[in-house]
This record gives sequence, C-alpha cells and structure tokens, in this order.
Amino acid sequence: MRNILYKNIKFIIFVLLIVIFKQHNNNICYTLNKEQYYRTIKVGIMINVSSVKIGSSGIFFVVDSMNNKLQFSKDIILEAIYMQSDVKIVDQNGAEHFINLPIKIISDEDIICVNCKPYRGYLELYKSINKINVINVLDIDNYVKGVLIKEMGMTKRIEALKVQAIISRTYAFVNFNKHQSQGFNVCSTTHCQVYGGIEVETIDSNKAVSNTRDEVLLYNEQLAETVYHANCGGHTDSPKYIWKCKNDVPNYLKGVKCGFCDDNPHTKWMHVMSKDFIKKKLMRNNIIIGEIENIRINNKTQFGTTESLEILHSDGSFIINSYEFRIIVDSDGIKSHDFDSVEIYDNKVYFKGKGYGHKVGLCQCGAIKMAENGMIYNEILSHFYPDTKIEKILYE
Ligand SMILES: [Zn+2]
Ligand SMILES: [Zn+2]
Repeated sequence: MRNILYKNIKFIIFVLLIVIFKQHNNNICYTLNKEQYYRTIKVGIMINVSSVKIGSSGIFFVVDSMNNKLQFSKDIILEAIYMQSDVKIVDQNGAEHFINLPIKIISDEDIICVNCKPYRGYLELYKSINKINVINVLDIDNYVKGVLIKEMGMTKRIEALKVQAIISRTYAFVNFNKHQSQGFNVCSTTHCQVYGGIEVETIDSNKAVSNTRDEVLLYNEQLAETVYHANCGGHTDSPKYIWKCKNDVPNYLKGVKCGFCDDNPHTKWMHVMSKDFIKKKLMRNNIIIGEIENIRINNKTQFGTTESLEILHSDGSFIINSYEFRIIVDSDGIKSHDFDSVEIYDNKVYFKGKGYGHKVGLCQCGAIKMAENGMIYNEILSHFYPDTKIEKILYE
C-alpha cells in the first residue's frame, strides 16, 4: 500500500514537472523551482547514427533490458541493423553478437570511449527510427567539467571559470527537459551547451567545478535563466527585443553596463556581404523583395543596441528585427545584431557593429577581464545578473 502511494506521488510529481517544463519551453523568461533536479544528467552525444565504435582502457559490459550481459576488453563496433535484432556488435576478433536496444554500456573505470573520445559515466543506446542515439549518463558536475572550456574558451582565470561553472550548471537545470522526447536531457551542441567529455577538461576548469559544487544562481528563489554570450560590445541588453517573452523580463536580465570588454578584438567588427547574397538569404526565408537599394538602422533600444533595420528595395521597403536579420542572413559572419552603421558601395554592403552573440545575460569577455582585475566570482555574477544570489541546489 505504502509502495502504491509512493508510486502515485512520484507519478503526480512527474506530471507536474512535465507541465512546468512545457511552459518553460514556450517561454525563455520562465524560471523553475530549485527542488526539481537530479544529480545525474543524460547528454545526447550522437544522434541518429548508423554505427559507433565503443571502447575502454579496461573491461566493459554491454547490458540489455533483460539483463543479458556481454563482456569486452577491446574496441567494438555497433551497427544498427533492425533485422533479427536491433544492433550487431562486431568485436576485435571479428566475432558478431546480436542485441536489442535499449542497452547500457558500463566500464569498470567509469570512463568509456565513443569513437575514441573518452567520456565519464556510462552510455545508454536507444532506438532512433532505424538508427541509434548514443547517450552519455553522468554526474551533473562531471558534465559541467566537459562544458566549461568549450563554452568559455581556454582561460586560466579561476574566478571566471567558477562563474562559467555556475551558469553552465544552472543553465543545464533550466533546460533539463529540452530533449525529453528523444530520451535525454541536453544535447552536446550549441543548441544546448557544447560538451566535449574528458578531452576538453583542464586542471583549472575541473578545480572551478569542484570549488562551486552544487552551486546555482537563483532569482526570487527560483533558478535564474543564466543566458550568456561571448562579448556584449559595452552594454548587455534585454531579451525582449530579440526573443518572444510572454512574462515581464526579470530585473537580472534587463541589461547592464559592462565596461570590461572594450579592448577585446570582438568588441568592434566589420563584415561585408553582397546585396545578392542578402537577398537570396531573405528569399529563402519567404521574405520576397526586389533589388536592395539601401539598408538603414531603423531604431535602437534604450541602451543603444540596434533593434531593427529598414530595407529599401526596388519594390518597396520593410522593417526587420536586427536579431532576426542576423540569424537569417549569416549568424557566423555577422557577429551580433548591434549594428553601428550599414553602408552600401556598388554591390557590397558594409556592416559595422559591436559585440559577439545575443548580448543577453553575462558577457564572457567582460567576466574574464573582471577576474583578471581581481574580482571574485560572486561579484562578477551579481554585476551581470543583478539581484541574484548563489545557493547550493537541493537534490532528490
Ligand atoms: Zn540541445
Ligand atoms: Zn562586455
């Protein structure tokens, strides 16, 4: 009876979590309660692959849902076949083994190699149409160790790394159910946070994770949306100009003066594109226009960030949000949507602007500079996310 009651309560909590996370997915400005998290995270490291090579420096086991266990000590190749079984395993001696998904792959040493890249924790392999999803299951802090340098770049500034550890950990929790339908929590690309496993860890980044163990950023007793970007160009700005926020933007994301990234090479930039290239990109997104005649900055936010552009063309003119323009036209070449000037000579458009990324939340260049100046991690976090506080998370 107690057991049934316990199961029911767990189910109700699970349903509530789904409802809350679904609300979150529709709204970037929504925040969550800090009690809803788990120590273990599932990271989708390979999605829809036909085959994968798995290995370990010691013995490792492949275990299916019926608890059938295969033991290996050298690299194996798994191939999706979906015939008499889901997967064929070819070991180093050329022997074939057949097994159905899902499976777990666990090593004695808690380190497992996927296509020769080492990862902490263990693997789960799931069916994905006629292919395989490879999921790395590991402790949340070990996940953050594999994210830090990938997201912040190589730095030895421990206080800046501690900042990134807290915001990456918080960001992972806030986005915990982003890939729920695929059977994992977060992916390993820029869609969530870039995760590289053990290969990208450094002594300093691991120290930063250990020194901030379980710490997350809260605003009004809820997890903060710790969005961040490479370089703010001098001032961060509100997400309301670039993302659709149903709720009011909370104070900590409204934008602050940075003042620490001014001498960084990303702060000022120029990018040149042909008019035809821009037209083609717009047309591909169903924005049908004539020949481009001029592009003007239409308006700016209260902090001076370009909010929209006016495009004058042979068939008329229209206004486009400058963030949307960047995403549609070339989000790699155009470093930010904050244009200082747009000039046209002959067939070419010269964009000058400042910053790198979306300009919301923490400026990573600024954070590194503040750490160089001797500021500690909580000072840096409260500068970029005012009215927030650091607290240790409660796990189940
Ligand atoms: Zn993702
Ligand atoms: Zn900055």
